[in-house]
Amino acid sequence: MTGHSEIRFSPSELAFDIDGVVADTMEVFVRLAHGRYGLTYLTKEHLGCYNLYQCLDLEKEVIDDLICLTLDDEHTLQIPPVSDAPEVLTELSRHGPLRFVTARIWPESIIRWLHMTLSEVSANDIKVVATGTPEAKLKVLKDLGVRCFVEDRLETCRMLANEGIQPLVFDQPWNRTFLDDEFPRVRNWSQLRQWVLPRNGELL
Ligand SMILES: [Mg+2]
Repeated sequence: MTGHSEIRFSPSELAFDIDGVVADTMEVFVRLAHGRYGLTYLTKEHLGCYNLYQCLDLEKEVIDDLICLTLDDEHTLQIPPVSDAPEVLTELSRHGPLRFVTARIWPESIIRWLHMTLSEVSANDIKVVATGTPEAKLKVLKDLGVRCFVEDRLETCRMLANEGIQPLVFDQPWNRTFLDDEFPRVRNWSQLRQWVLPRNGELL
């Protein structure tokens, strides 16, 4: 990756968004679109922007319903993890508590999901702050002393970058609309692992 080849962070400087980074939330959205509305052509690749009303040619009510269902307690617990996220996070947890900052308003079910998904990580080492809005992440991250945040929403990345927090964009179809030299792009969890634990698990 050009321009960002020297990326190194210590685990203690990092925090993570949950939906779209650790949890493959939109996989459930797509599944519900198939099952409830017969939209069998739909794949995650169709979700080309974060604002789904702009990129899906569907009635607003349908999108609202699918978002609502995706985020409800029942479906939250069915979200598959992003590939390799549980393994890498479990490894990172050996270097200190894992910190997650989500814009969800009601975080109880996603916290349960994290405990289930990271079953080898002690509950005390899983810290979650729910901000309710993406904008509120900034203050929370500053208060936590986070230097680097892994996030899939570009607007949030830009806001954080303006305030001195290094965003790492977690690659998703809805954030491929920017130039890769704006922020480092994390293609997958093994690449992130390589940046944070470059010597195969040994800290720098
Ligand atoms: Mg997200």
